[in-house]
Order: sequence, then structure tokens, then C-alpha cells
Amino acid sequence: MTLADKLIKEHTLTKEEYIELLNHWGDPELKEKLRMEANRLRRQYYGDGIFVRGLIEFTNICKNNCYYCGIRRENANVKRYRLTKEEILECCDYGYELGFRTFVLQGGEDGYYTDEKVVDLVSTIKKKYPDCAVTLSIGEKTYESYKAYREVGADRYLLRHETACEAHYNMLHPDNMKLSTRLQCLRNLKTLGYQTGAGFMVGSPNQTMSTIADDLVFLQELKPEMVGIGPFIPHHDTCFANEPAGSVDFTLFLLSVIRIMLPKVLLPATTALGTMDEHGREKGILHGANVIMPNLSPLKNRKQYELYDNKICTGEEAADSIKSLEKRVATVGCHIVYGRGDYAG
Ligand code: SAH
Repeated sequence: MTLADKLIKEHTLTKEEYIELLNHWGDPELKEKLRMEANRLRRQYYGDGIFVRGLIEFTNICKNNCYYCGIRRENANVKRYRLTKEEILECCDYGYELGFRTFVLQGGEDGYYTDEKVVDLVSTIKKKYPDCAVTLSIGEKTYESYKAYREVGADRYLLRHETACEAHYNMLHPDNMKLSTRLQCLRNLKTLGYQTGAGFMVGSPNQTMSTIADDLVFLQELKPEMVGIGPFIPHHDTCFANEPAGSVDFTLFLLSVIRIMLPKVLLPATTALGTMDEHGREKGILHGANVIMPNLSPLKNRKQYELYDNKICTGEEAADSIKSLEKRVATVGCHIVYGRGDYAG
């Protein structure tokens, strides 16, 4: 049995087997075989429906200094902003009208947004829109904080692990950030019953087939309900300004592998994929992705949430263009599903 067949049959491989598989990712037959299977599994569990999430980037103020990220603390060239509660609720109102039933609140680790404020925000949104899911993506917090958000109705939480290899993690982050903390946060989120999202950038500096194999083995063990992966894209004001961007094709290959490994996973075709390739998100769908996350942030702030260079922010990726997004999704034989879009438990 080939490794591809084994992955398809057993949904799991060892680290060494993943390395072997990844080393052959350029083989057109292998790529196509995994893509077909990933597409088949997506259809089996989710049909032709693609879930949409309204992404609200509500603060670009961050106490962390991740070496790859454009909104890192030490980047003095970003114009910082923070949306008020009223502005966030306006984004939700607008999104609700457009048909969105999941709101993703993403931001830097901004101390202004205390637990009390997050709790107030989540409970206000859940009361106003009881038929909507709320996803948080606001970084590392204590078990008690995650519990407090969960108790007022937060449904999902996105916290990419970034890399499951400790040595690699330390090359992407300053000393005060630890892989062990990140992983503990993910376990806490699972324990609290969140639909939990992990993930990593493809082609981040110093990434190797071995570190990606670590990521895949980690995902296999954690069994997150969501996995976010997208190509690394350099930002001009970071330590990695001159590093090459990650490969779109390799990202697509990994989307297929992840769909096969975790058949029911909620798998977005990410903004980074759409930034690198005009048809990146449609290609993502054809490789097993089943979620897209259009931007609902106010137009005046969108450019300021610049995680990487040239992040798409005024075109068809945005929620305003939901009609053109519908057309794009139709070109790959799918349709947008307006609904909470929960994990197919
Ligand atoms: N502060 C939150 C949200 C982070 S931004 C948190 O800690 O989870 C969301 C994701 O964007 C990050 O997890 C990272 O994987 C991705 N990202 C950041 N900089 C990037 C870059 N230069 N290229 C591609 N993706 C990037």
C-alpha cells in the first residue's frame, strides 16, 4: 500500500511517513489523488455548501512581538486602531443583514479588551442575535478567561499553534512566548467545549518538512474542529521582510492532506491564500476547504489590520461583495450556505 492509500484508508500516518509523503508533494499523480479524495470527503460531510463567516478585525493593538506579524508591538509604522463596542455591533448588524450567522472577532492581544469587556461584547451579540455563532480569535488567555467567555455563549475559538516544533516556534517568536503555553491554551479550549481551531502558516521562515510533519501529527492528536492554514507572506516592517513567501500549490496540497486526516474539519480557504493567488480561494475549495471568511471590518480600518504585505481588503474578498463571492463559489460547483455552519459532529 502506498502512503497516500494508507492516509486515505486510516486517516493517520506517523511523523516519518508524513515526511516521506511531503517530500513527494510535487508528484502530479499523488497531488491529484489526494485532491480528489479531499474533495470527495468535503462533499460527503458538507455537500456543495460552503460556510461563510463575517470577520471583524476589531483591534490591531497587540502586546506581542511575533517576528512574522505586521501588527507586532515593535512595528511603529502601523496606525493603531480599536473599534468601540458600538462599531463592532454595527459590523454585526450589517453582517446579519447580508446573511451572516457567524461573527469572528479577531484582534491583537489588546489589554484594553479586559475579560469584562469581552464578556460584555459576547453576551450582547449573543442576546441580540441568538441564532448566530460567535468565534473569538484574541490569543492566549487563562483557563478562567476562556471559561468566562464560554459561559456567556462564545461558540468557537481560533488560535493557530503556528508550529508544533519547539525549536521552530522559538525562531518565530520572542523568548516570552512559549509553544507549551500555546498548546495548553488549545487543550483548555477543547476541554471547555469550544469548537477549536489550530493551524499554521505554510512556508514560514525555517519551516521544514520535519516541522510540518510535527504539525500534522499534532493536529491528528488534538483533533481540532477547525484548522486554519495559509501561505506565509512577508511584511515589510518585520524581521522577515526579505524572506520568501510560502507556496500556494504546497498550501493546497496540505489542505487536501488535512481534509483527509480530519474528514469533518471546518477548513477555511484563507485570506492569505486569496492574497497570493487571485483564484486561491476557489482552488482551496477544490482541495477540500469548506469555509470562507469575508471581511466585515469597517472600510476605514481594513487597511490597518495589515498582518502581511498586500493583504486583500477592498475587493471581492470583502463581505460587501457577497454576490460576487457567490458567483466565484458557483464556478467550482458549490454554493454559499447562510447559517451558523457548525462542525458536523
Ligand atoms: N492575536 C490572535 C490573532 C492573530 S492574527 C492570535 O494570537 O491568535 C491571525 C493569524 O494570522 C496568525 O495566527 C498567523 O498565523 C497569521 N499571520 C500573521 N502574520 C502573517 C504573515 N506575515 N503571513 C501570513 N499569515 C500571517
